[in-house]
Amino acid sequence: MTLQLIKLGPLAVSRLGFGTLSLSPLQSSLAVDQGAELLCYAWHKGINFWDTAQIYENYPVLRAAIRRLPAQPVIASKTYAYTAEAAETAVNEARRELGVDVLDMMMLHEQTALTLPGHQEALDWLANARERGVIRAVGVSTHSVACVLAATEFPEIDVIHPLYNMQGVGIHDGSPADMAAAITAAKARGKGIYAMKVLGGGTLYRRAREAIGHVLSQPWLDSAVIGMATTAEIDYNVALFEGLDPDADTVRQVRGRRRSLHRADWCEGCGKCVQACGQGALVLEDGKVRVREELCVLCGYCSRQCELMCLKIF
Ligand code: SF4
Ligand code: SF4
Repeated sequence: MTLQLIKLGPLAVSRLGFGTLSLSPLQSSLAVDQGAELLCYAWHKGINFWDTAQIYENYPVLRAAIRRLPAQPVIASKTYAYTAEAAETAVNEARRELGVDVLDMMMLHEQTALTLPGHQEALDWLANARERGVIRAVGVSTHSVACVLAATEFPEIDVIHPLYNMQGVGIHDGSPADMAAAITAAKARGKGIYAMKVLGGGTLYRRAREAIGHVLSQPWLDSAVIGMATTAEIDYNVALFEGLDPDADTVRQVRGRRRSLHRADWCEGCGKCVQACGQGALVLEDGKVRVREELCVLCGYCSRQCELMCLKIF
């Protein structure tokens, strides 16, 4: 199977990208070799685009995979840097730890319309680095409709990486229609678009075919990244992105994989998710939420209440 390469700003990427958070210590316990094997498997299925971030702490996995491949994949990383010095440190760390001379894209991570202007110094440094050929593109990732609109006004930004899914799980300030309208405006102004969380942080996994079909029907979409942790998930997603039916054995493996709800360390204990759970599966303890796995039915309703995207099913 091959996935056609499409234009994302100045880059050429597969329509399905590999969201490598699933290969990070934050989400999986895969060893470096196992993670690299998965990335190589995906590469041979046509996935040439990897999405990572400084905080994922998985550059060693990506580096191990790069060394096994015949050509370099397209890699986008992210940083919270707001000074020139921090942006330079982030880019050089990525180049060094990935073992690449040129980093394809560095993005400002998880921005809002309010935070983005405060990163101007870092943006200026990144735009200059692009001019010098140290990176190829500058981007911004966001869960916010207002931020997509704000980023559209920044000439330094080539690519926007917005949160988008058919139910709006995780969008901070609007509906899927609001987000689609903002993205459409950004696209019309020449920004490349690759979507994140198209399966709602795992909460839409039971409706994956519908969720992927929905995002692929969006006229503004260049690419979308999905976290994958098994070869069956790669086969499943590749088939859906190619408009094919995954084979029965692949479907059985994907549906049969044991999943659970995970709460991230950055939970602030606001309690909104607790109220959303009709199963009584969430309790507040020591300022954070604890999941009572024995009661959780993996419906995903709680994660829709968490603006910080702390709750994910994987
Ligand atoms: S909604 Fe999010 S931040 Fe609030 S308690 Fe739940 S997991 Fe923590
Ligand atoms: S996934 Fe559903 S059952 Fe599980 S904790 Fe969240 S709301 Fe409750």
